[in-house]
Amino acid sequence: MTTDIKTILVTGGAGYIGSHAVLALQQAGYRVVILDNLVYGHRDLVETVLQAELIEGSTLDSGLLKNIFSRYDISAVMHFSAYAYVGESVGNPSKYYENNVVGTLSLLDEMVAAGVKNFVFSSTCATYGVPQEMPISETHPQNPINPYGASKLMVERILTDYDKAYDFRSVRFRYFNAAGAHPNGLLGEDHNPETHLIPLVLQTALGKREAISVFGTDYPTADGTCVRDYIHVCDLADAHILGLEYLLNGGESTVFNLGNGLGFSVREVIDTAVRVTGKSIPVVEEDRRPGDPPALVGGSDRARDVLGWNPQYADIETILTHAWAWHQKRHR
Ligand code: UDP
Repeated sequence: MTTDIKTILVTGGAGYIGSHAVLALQQAGYRVVILDNLVYGHRDLVETVLQAELIEGSTLDSGLLKNIFSRYDISAVMHFSAYAYVGESVGNPSKYYENNVVGTLSLLDEMVAAGVKNFVFSSTCATYGVPQEMPISETHPQNPINPYGASKLMVERILTDYDKAYDFRSVRFRYFNAAGAHPNGLLGEDHNPETHLIPLVLQTALGKREAISVFGTDYPTADGTCVRDYIHVCDLADAHILGLEYLLNGGESTVFNLGNGLGFSVREVIDTAVRVTGKSIPVVEEDRRPGDPPALVGGSDRARDVLGWNPQYADIETILTHAWAWHQKRHR
């Protein structure tokens, strides 16, 4: 009996956004193979929650990739594996260009060699740099101000050229700030080291940290702190399924922002966390963090219009409520 269950290779499937996408793929009826170097990913979540096949290794390992593409009939690749610490990328750009650019190039070349030509790519609003207008649309100029954003922009350019040369089709998603956790309580954010605002705020609420640092209080924003567009990780995962199906149905290469179009300052996030957790969250004001634009808010009309994407959890309180449930369980 033949089966038309499609197999999707998910790089970085043991990581934060990747693991939510794997669960969404499984729920949508796909078979998933995960490639993850487990530098930041979590084997326990793959084994206990996702129960997907996990291959431990790097996209820089062409021999391993050849082996994967010959062993499995892969219909498409979702590529999440990347280093994503903005601050670290400023001090250690080599790490970012090596993994995020060279590692992706190695993956793309093995895909082309194997005739696998559907690619869903995690890009970022960090490719825009300091916005000239907001909300930022997909046509906004891309002038990244940190190596992390530059590494993602380089891949976007490579994808454009690969499409022309090899008929290689991709959906590039430019995420705003991924946040929240799965409402089932089984998946969420767990970086080590943790540098992201919401997990650090919640760890402070849990008493695991003495205070939350606010990086910069003199930005040209309403309260002087940075403004970001926080998008629920499950809404991101849903967009990936829609982007995948768009490609599998013959869609052209394209790009979509994924954000809510709503900006929240660092202080507003902390104040909301105080309400959601019912805990006091001490704050320490510090200097600006290198590489941070003052405000990033995205317009995602294109994803709604073309893909029919409809974020379910746009409300910052819901995002923090889900994240809080996860943090209480994971970090107790
Ligand atoms: N931020 C902060 N204190 C922290 C971590 C982050 O004030 O301990 C700020 C950071 O400067 C940025 C915003 O919170 O303006 C979101 O940072 P995060 O690292 O969560 O995401 P990014 O925008 O870098 O992707």
